[in-house]
Amino acid sequence: MAGVAVLGSFGCSGIVGQSDNNQRGARNQRKNVPEPKYLELERSGELAKREKALWDLYSPCYLCPRLCGAKRAEGIGGVCTAASSFRVASYGVDFATERPIRGTRGSGGIFLSNCNLLCIFCQNWQIAHRGDGNVTTPDQLANMIMSIQRRNPHNVSFISPTHLVPQIVSALRIAIGRGFNLPLLFDTSGHESLEVIKLLDGIVDIYQPDFKFMDSKIAARFTQGAPNYAEHAAAAIKEMHRQVGVLQIENGIAYQGILMRHLVLPENLSGTDKFVRWVADELSPDTHINISGQFFPAFRSSEYPPLNRRITRTEHNQAMQWAREAGLHNFHS
Ligand code: SF4
Repeated sequence: MAGVAVLGSFGCSGIVGQSDNNQRGARNQRKNVPEPKYLELERSGELAKREKALWDLYSPCYLCPRLCGAKRAEGIGGVCTAASSFRVASYGVDFATERPIRGTRGSGGIFLSNCNLLCIFCQNWQIAHRGDGNVTTPDQLANMIMSIQRRNPHNVSFISPTHLVPQIVSALRIAIGRGFNLPLLFDTSGHESLEVIKLLDGIVDIYQPDFKFMDSKIAARFTQGAPNYAEHAAAAIKEMHRQVGVLQIENGIAYQGILMRHLVLPENLSGTDKFVRWVADELSPDTHINISGQFFPAFRSSEYPPLNRRITRTEHNQAMQWAREAGLHNFHS
């Protein structure tokens, strides 16, 4: 999960069914960009098939590379602890994300509780590890989507979506029936199943994946043993890039593509030099990228030196120099 500030207040109890009239403005303000592909998938019946395929991976759960096999439908959680019910920590409109995503009207954000990566330095550990949030249904989630669309942001983003992809697609189909038509974003830790990402082809318009570690042994040490993180993230992100390509921007606002994130860690534990070369070689030197210097020792970081300190200015400067030397040039903060 990226270090995303908690958005707005949770208030699904105050949301009621929406009229399609509420959504006309959003599409009218995007005349020059294609409609999100998920609308055609819904019209053709393909989205219903994808929804079913995703629910087939839910219990026993094989939605992420941990492959817990947890019988979530029976209320048994896996490593991520998400079981049959699910929670939303907050939702609202965010103006703190990268400029092509937030634009002038902000980015809608729905911050889902629990996480399948579980970094020991998580800045949102109360939500990701402890699961703070309100129990929600797909119908209520659809109401949140529509509530956000009424506020006229440029897009709607699901933050930490991996363990809840079936519920999200069910909610998306309900929201489409109520007039939803904004670009859909997935803001993920990168710990994704290739099978699941393939099922999202045409559903997600913009991917915002972190690529947190280039060394899976280091990743496992800081993520409660996440298996083969680097290999799974590389395969999933390449598939994301195949689906949506380099970030497409119209009038300063992104409507399709991939925006990579990478958090620089002390003593280069995240392997930034390897990461930037991988992006340039395997995706494109034109990839839009946020190389973040915002690490701070949150949650259990103090138990894991050198994660018990912030990165230095020199470390971040070095990371940016590696990125420029690799040929990257579309930077965001
Ligand atoms: S999503 Fe959760 S329950 Fe499912 S495989 Fe991943 S960690 Fe296990």
